[in-house]
Order: sequence, then structure tokens, then C-alpha cells
Amino acid sequence: MEVADPVCGMKLDPAKAKYKSVYRGEVYCFCSIHCKKAFEENPEYYLKHGPTGMPK
Ligand SMILES: [Zn+2]
Repeated sequence: MEVADPVCGMKLDPAKAKYKSVYRGEVYCFCSIHCKKAFEENPEYYLKHGPTGMPK
């Protein structure tokens, strides 16, 4: 089953995702360390607004 990277919207296979973060008991998968960092800096933003594309 695929999940979406909450930062950039890319579809990921959780079994293969290298970058993961747990927030409020939910596991989120990321395509890169940049997305993971962006999410961890402001998880509420991405959960509210959805993916915004690759962080610069
Ligand atoms: Zn990403």
C-alpha cells in the first residue's frame, strides 16, 4: 500500500521508505531528509494544508 509524503505529495512505499517520522502516534514517510526535516519543523502546517511541493 502506498502512502503520500505529507510535504511534497510523492507516493511512497512505507516498507521501503528510508525517512520516517512519528507524530502523535502516526507514522509519516518521506522521500528525502529535506521533507522529513520540513515536516518535523512544522508538522501542523503540513497536516492542515497538505503537500506543498519539495522544500527549497
Ligand atoms: Zn518528499
